[in-house]
Amino acid sequence: MRGAIAAGLVSLVLTAAGALAEPVRVLATVGMIGDLAGRVGGDCAEVKVLIGPGNDPHLFQPRASDIGRLQEAQVVFHLGLNLEGRLGSVLARLARDRQVAALGEVAIPPAELLGADGAPDPHLWMDVSLWSRLVPTIAAELARARPACQADLDSRAAELQAELAALHAWAAESLASIPEHARVLVTAHDAFGYFARAYGLRQLAIQGFSTESEASVADIRAVAAEVVAAGVPAVFVESTINPRSIQAMLEAVQAAGGRADLGASLFSDAMGAEGTPEGTYIGMIRWNVRAIVAALGGTAAPWPEALRPWAERHKVAP
Ligand code: ZN
Repeated sequence: MRGAIAAGLVSLVLTAAGALAEPVRVLATVGMIGDLAGRVGGDCAEVKVLIGPGNDPHLFQPRASDIGRLQEAQVVFHLGLNLEGRLGSVLARLARDRQVAALGEVAIPPAELLGADGAPDPHLWMDVSLWSRLVPTIAAELARARPACQADLDSRAAELQAELAALHAWAAESLASIPEHARVLVTAHDAFGYFARAYGLRQLAIQGFSTESEASVADIRAVAAEVVAAGVPAVFVESTINPRSIQAMLEAVQAAGGRADLGASLFSDAMGAEGTPEGTYIGMIRWNVRAIVAALGGTAAPWPEALRPWAERHKVAP
């Protein structure tokens, strides 16, 4: 309540001085960034997302209307690390006359990235503690655009980081319950490297980091052979990826005399639909962890007290 009153006063004062009272117009390339920016920004920012639910950022090609939306924004947040590969030249042009921040490149030192030199793995959001480190950079960028909001931005950033710390601990505890032999995460594309590193699983993917090339028959057979050899109980499709390669792989597993179930569809490179719990970053991670734990024979830990307000806001039973 105090925040709302303070924001009201600030907006009155600043309106007399000019148009500065309006929230900063922010455009985030992907929902996982937009969600953090919206939480930190509060009423200081109006956050929109360019690449919505179900869309694959690796393949996203901007249309004229998308360029218009980018140009309307005062602050553009993208991940960088070649996630939004086809937006590169557009973002470079925008950076000449507005704030454009490649959050993954600014907030995370190269030594902590997965992937080869020159081809880093961009899927940082899969490790909650790594993703949480983007929050202070977001707060600093928004404060640069609206210095009057600095104190509010910092306090919301601290609150969000506390929630993300609780989420990370919950994910680690839940995933640690999966039996040793089943600690393998088989997916269509290589989006879960940071997840596997953070939470102690082995990742096995049919395709590489990017979805730009098609999976080959040889890739599918190689993963199927490993699934059979390791006795992996379940494999997963992703919300942004055609399930064809995973289905072909399951057929190859059966042909080789093995057996694996199909787990629930995971959110890899986009969040769920707006207005659903999975349409938030916390909800996306919660969904993935619960789906993986259920399919691989573990048990989800009790939902943390620090995330009870989130659960209440999204009408999720804790
Ligand atoms: Zn991806």
